[in-house]
Amino acid sequence: MNIAVGVDIGGTNLRVTVSDESGDFLHTEKKKIEVSDEMGISRNIVDMTRRSCEAIDVKVDEVKGIGIASTGPLDVEKGILIRPTNLPFGKVPLVEPVRKELGIPTSLLNDCSAGVLGEKTFGAGKGCENLVYINIGTGIGGGAIVDGNLLLGKDGNAAEIGHFTVDPKGKLICGCGKKGHWEAYCSGRNIPNFVELRSEELISRYGEMSPEKFFKAVEEGDREAVSLMEEISKLNAIGTADVIDAYDPELVTFGGTVVLENEERIVNPIRGRIEDHIRNEKPEIIVTPLKDKVSLYGAIARALEY
Ligand SMILES: [Zn+2]
Repeated sequence: MNIAVGVDIGGTNLRVTVSDESGDFLHTEKKKIEVSDEMGISRNIVDMTRRSCEAIDVKVDEVKGIGIASTGPLDVEKGILIRPTNLPFGKVPLVEPVRKELGIPTSLLNDCSAGVLGEKTFGAGKGCENLVYINIGTGIGGGAIVDGNLLLGKDGNAAEIGHFTVDPKGKLICGCGKKGHWEAYCSGRNIPNFVELRSEELISRYGEMSPEKFFKAVEEGDREAVSLMEEISKLNAIGTADVIDAYDPELVTFGGTVVLENEERIVNPIRGRIEDHIRNEKPEIIVTPLKDKVSLYGAIARALEY
């Protein structure tokens, strides 16, 4: 039985899982991300891997590989994070320190690339050669497998779909500095900006906006919120249509906090509107069955390739 370790570095938490080759999680550890120094995360990965192996009575050198999935920006070749959004460091070395300390083959991949790999290996995409994973969380990201190959690109950014332009008039500025990008309107970080742009009424009624407050207002049937939700759905459908026409997938799965906390409220309108925008044949569009573990599954899938 092959054993692998998957690591997921999210916005706030670090998760380490020891899994067998069928994707059964044998032991999982979770910890707040260490921000004291730039070696903190790799130190934690090493400790958590050792503890996890001990907990299930597996020797560390029996582990086939370690896959680390992380939000970008990252340099996959060098195995480092570069100026991560949530950490006060220029570079965070991951692969080398972990490999050196544990003596196990280790690699790094973008969390959305990991997402699509996890979907194909352990989720709804088993047997699919063409699929896309779309993450709508704090930001918007994607991972694409085309003809069975995970697309990476020259810098590992082949599916930066959150930066597709969905509003050519471009009133909202994206975190990347450019105008009119999908992420600037529909991501968890930016939905409050969109509300502010469109509806003084909602702001005066609800105070400072958060995605949670906004979706609650939609659920309660607030007229302004429902109408803004229509606009968000339209932009989500345009973004998804661009993805479908770019990669021609047979399956699109959605994950990320905004999706997982609202599921069909986000995905159903995309399904309903998609044919207004696509040229390619409509794929199956679903919420990922792997939920918030989709990237972790992808990290394990990568580790099992060793
Ligand atoms: Zn952007």
